[in-house]
Parts: sequence; structure tokens; C-alpha cells
Amino acid sequence: MNSQPDVVVIGAGAAGISAAHTLIESGCSVVVVEAASRIGGRCWTDTETFGVPYDVGAHWMHYGANNFYLQYGKQNGFSIYPDSRNFHFFRHDREQPGGDAVIRETRDQFEAAIQIAADKNLDISIEEATDELAPFEFATIDFIYGPWIMGKEVADFSVLDYVSAPDSEDWFCREGFGSIISHYGSGLPVSLNTKATEVDWSGNGVKVKTSKGTIEAKAALVTVSTGVLKAGGLKFSPTLSKKKQKAFRAISMGCYEHIVLQFDDGNLFGESDSYVIRMWDEKRECFGALVNVCGSGLAFCDIGGQTARDLIAEGDEACIDYALSQLIQIAGSNVADSFIKGAASGWLNHPFSLGAYASAKPGKFHMRETLRESVGERIFFAGEACHPTLWASVAGAHLSGQEVAREIVRLLQ
Ligand SMILES: Cc1cc2nc3c(=O)[nH]c(=O)nc-3n(C[C@H](O)[C@H](O)[C@H](O)COP(=O)(O)OP(=O)(O)OC[C@H]3O[C@@H](n4cnc5c(N)ncnc54)[C@H](O)[C@@H]3O)c2cc1C
Repeated sequence: MNSQPDVVVIGAGAAGISAAHTLIESGCSVVVVEAASRIGGRCWTDTETFGVPYDVGAHWMHYGANNFYLQYGKQNGFSIYPDSRNFHFFRHDREQPGGDAVIRETRDQFEAAIQIAADKNLDISIEEATDELAPFEFATIDFIYGPWIMGKEVADFSVLDYVSAPDSEDWFCREGFGSIISHYGSGLPVSLNTKATEVDWSGNGVKVKTSKGTIEAKAALVTVSTGVLKAGGLKFSPTLSKKKQKAFRAISMGCYEHIVLQFDDGNLFGESDSYVIRMWDEKRECFGALVNVCGSGLAFCDIGGQTARDLIAEGDEACIDYALSQLIQIAGSNVADSFIKGAASGWLNHPFSLGAYASAKPGKFHMRETLRESVGERIFFAGEACHPTLWASVAGAHLSGQEVAREIVRLLQ
């Protein structure tokens, strides 16, 4: 590990990897320190647990045209294909004909209410923006937009933040999204199992203390999640401004996890990569799963928000039982006969992520900008939470790392 590079990058997820490439291509010397024993961060494909690729974190390649990894993956022999958005909606255990047409009208009214609030520049919660809409279908929509998409209840995130993200075209990678990132990141100067503990910016440049010694550099680029920053997982000396620290809390992490179940008959649920959604009347809750993922027999069951936090508190077995019982409701007892084993992704309690991805609390949309601001022209921040529009995505993390690295190059020249 070079202990005196131009730039030390903290974290080898999508943002750290793209930043390191950009810095190196611009002639800067770089060390990337990564606390985990692998690169990729929240975009990681595990091939061991089930013997087939399992994306523990990011799986959908969002924002087609703006997703660097789509072209990179295609050019490097990965098998990439579009998400056909094949939805099956169940009410209790009955499939509703028409795919996502079942919720289209309700969803359009929901989106329209959000847009009205956004047009008035109201930084209120999605709950407040849509509180005139009450029937059962809206509870389902609440759940889809809240816990599922954002990992938070609809009361906990900002309308202005939500509308800042564009619509997405999605793609899948048969070998796993994380495999492409690992491919792109291989060969970079990454020191694994190296946890950064403190960034000392009291003198010229920075001194980054790590579990393997201190690195002195002209600048540090921090790419760890706002979950880690809020929890004080990385110290700054002198401490950062109150405003900056507030940004770590304001752009807060949601809880969203994959409970993955393996079946010996992937076709139990029909076509591969279909998305099944089960709604029921008596609870403001629903269940969803991407089934027969890439034809592998795996089902990625999605849980989010408070329901997920409650389940996770009960342990992995409870999560797996819950997901299995939901799929049995949808497809019958054959599901139990075909079940091999399950796993839960565990991002909420993982000390290097502490959640899934970040979004602004109501009234705190402006804090995204504060989060992005550099400190003393030598501490820089990048990562999914720092991208102005493609937040919560790998595509956004990649672009954020690249853009901030270019800024660092300009300053160092
Ligand atoms: C379950 C789940 C599903 C998701 N689904 C999708 C999806 O389908 N599509 C999509 O585009 N996005 C998805 N996302 C979001 C996406 O994974 C993230 O937005 C993106 O991977 C974040 O990249 P990053 O570089 O900003 O952060 P990270 O990937 O978190 O990288 C930060 C790195 O810093 C390391 N680190 C932490 N603390 C320290 C320390 N003290 N010292 C050194 N290193 C440290 C971490 O180990 C990590 O490797 C999902 C996320 C989750 C959790």
C-alpha cells in the first residue's frame, strides 16, 4: 500500500472504483482502502451460497442509457438483457388479470398528487402529498413506493427528492450485476480488509488513519454510505461543521433487503424474471418477489421499511419463513416441496453499509447539496447519496465518483 499517494479513496464500491479509474487515467497516484474483504460494496454477486449468481445488493441495472455498466458489460462478454416488466398481481391467492394494469389508474393518481406538490415546490412527505387518496389500492401503492422502492414509509421521504429522479429503463445481467463491477474494479490499487478510522485534515493535505497504518495524501475521497457517516464509523479531525453532520442524518438510509429462496423447479412461478406481487385487504402491506431470477431457480423476495426492520429483528430464519409462506400463498404447496434453502441479505446491520440506500427526509431535500460539498478543498464526498438525480443506484454512484474525481484532478493540477 502506497502510504503517500496523491489521493486516498475510502471505499471500493461503485463510486470508489469509478473515481479511482478517473484519477489514475488523469495521472494521479491513488490508494483505495476498503474495509471489506472484497470490492463492489452494495453491488456484489455471491456465487458460493447457492452455486449460481446471487446479487446480494443491486440487481436491476437502472437508467439504461446513463448506466456505464450496461455498455461495459456488453463489451466484456456479460450476458445482458432488458427487464421485460412482466408483472403478476395477486389479491390474497387469486391472480388478477391484466398485469400492472390492475394498479395503473391508482398509480397515476398517486403520481399526479406527488407532482402537484412538487410543482408548488413543497418539500413535504409523500404521505402528506397523497393523503387525500384513501382506498385500499392506495395502501398497496403506498407500500410499493415507500418500503419497497425507497426502503422507508411514505411519511419519511421528501416529495422534491423523489421527483428529482428520472424514469428508469432496467436491464439484468445473467452473471450478476456485481460481477461486472468486480470485473471493472479488478487491477485497481485497492487495499482490502483496510478500515479507515479517521481523516485528519488539521495540516496541509490529509492523514487517513486505517487499520493497516496511516496514509498521507493531498486529498481524501470519502465514498462510504450516509449510514456509516451518521453512525460515526469514520471520524474527522477537526470535526466537520454541524451543517455537514446534519446532512449525514438528513439524507438517511432506507431499509430494503433481498430474502433469497432457492427452488429445484424454477418454473413453479412461470416465466423467468417475472415479478409477483401479493396484496391483501386487511393490512397496509403487500409482498413482492422477482421469481426464477435469470432462469436460476432463485426468487428474490423484497422486504422494506418498518416491516423489514421488524422481520430482521426476528432473525434470518424468520425472514426466510415469511418469504416462503408468501410464495406458498401465491403458487401453492408445490413451492414448499421444491424449496432448497434461503438467505437474507443483511445490509441493515452490516457495519460497512448500515442500510440499503439513502433518500432525503421531508423538508431536507436541500441537504443533498450539503452532503456533496467538499471540505477545505481536501476532503471530498461521492457515492450514490451524493448524485443529484440518480441517487440510490449503481449508475448514480458511478457517475458521482467520476465527477468528484474530475473536480479533484482540477484542484490538484
Ligand atoms: C438490497 C439492495 C438492493 C439494491 N438494488 C439496486 C438495484 O437493483 N439497482 C441499483 O442500481 N442499485 C441498487 N441498490 C443500490 C446500490 O447498490 C448502491 O446505490 C450502490 O451500490 C452504492 O455504491 P457506493 O459506491 O455509493 O457505496 P458502497 O457500495 O456502499 O461502497 C462503499 C464502500 O465503502 C466501504 N467502507 C465502509 N466503511 C469503510 C471504512 N471505514 N473504511 C474503508 N471502507 C469502508 C464499504 O465496505 C463499501 O465497499 C441496492 C442496494 C441494496 C442494499
